[in-house]
Amino acid sequence: MAELPPLREVIARHGLSASKALGQNFLFDEQLLGRIAAIPGDLDGKAVLEIGPGPGGLTRALLRAGARVTAIEMDRRCLPALAELADAFPAQLTVIEGDALKLDHAEVMGGEPFAVLSNLPYNVGTALFVRWLGGEEWPPLWTSLTLMFQQEVAQRIVAEPGGSAYGRLAVLAQWRAQAKLAMKVHRSAFTPPPKVMSAIVHVTPGTMPEGVTARMVERLSEAAFGQRRKMLRQSLKGVPGAVEALDELGIDPQRRAETLAITDFVALARILCR
Ligand code: SAM
Repeated sequence: MAELPPLREVIARHGLSASKALGQNFLFDEQLLGRIAAIPGDLDGKAVLEIGPGPGGLTRALLRAGARVTAIEMDRRCLPALAELADAFPAQLTVIEGDALKLDHAEVMGGEPFAVLSNLPYNVGTALFVRWLGGEEWPPLWTSLTLMFQQEVAQRIVAEPGGSAYGRLAVLAQWRAQAKLAMKVHRSAFTPPPKVMSAIVHVTPGTMPEGVTARMVERLSEAAFGQRRKMLRQSLKGVPGAVEALDELGIDPQRRAETLAITDFVALARILCR
């Protein structure tokens, strides 16, 4: 296995001070990085898409696990450090300089199934998450998502009905996929430490329920949780046929969105897709 210099030394040598504008909070603890790389299971020989490798801490853990990594990084200051890593693991690492929000990931991965791992700034992470979980094509080309979020967002993704954390993100993440909280990461693990705690969410695709479109499930959860304090009778008014569908399913229209199970959203969507 390639002997690599400590990450702090790599950062110092390449002058990679963390940029606030790019949401950079680096992880240096190689044991922790190894545990994160192990979350998706055995990656030996598998294709992995890493977004935002930065100086390459998680990247080296993935390479050590035998993954074939394609990494998209928009900070060109990180490219020389990543090139060193590519040299240390011949034919295992491809680095693409660019904005992950603007790239077609299936194309970048050559149409091959891939696992996604990423430690991203909050806004970029959520935007990509919504994109990966959305759309009519299912199952997706990605085989799993292992993503760092601020803990509060992670809790919204895995939330169950009934609580204030349950909302659009939970429906999006769970109606045709399994989402679990894989690991909590203390703020002190990052350099510089962010203000809030983080957590890693692991998502795997499930079966697409029959007779529904993603568009309809998303539209219903958007309407229902857009006015989450209101009764469904009121919040679903703007979706034609939705209030009648509640009646057909025997769901009391005086209930509020957060009391509906994810299967209820799917059942409503199925009626509206007939
Ligand atoms: N993976 C490294 C680690 O764990 O130490 C770095 C994590 S740092 C929180 C996020 C990284 O994502 C930074 O290197 C930043 O430049 C990069 N980044 C931010 N927005 C991006 C985007 N839209 N596309 C690609 N990379 C991005």
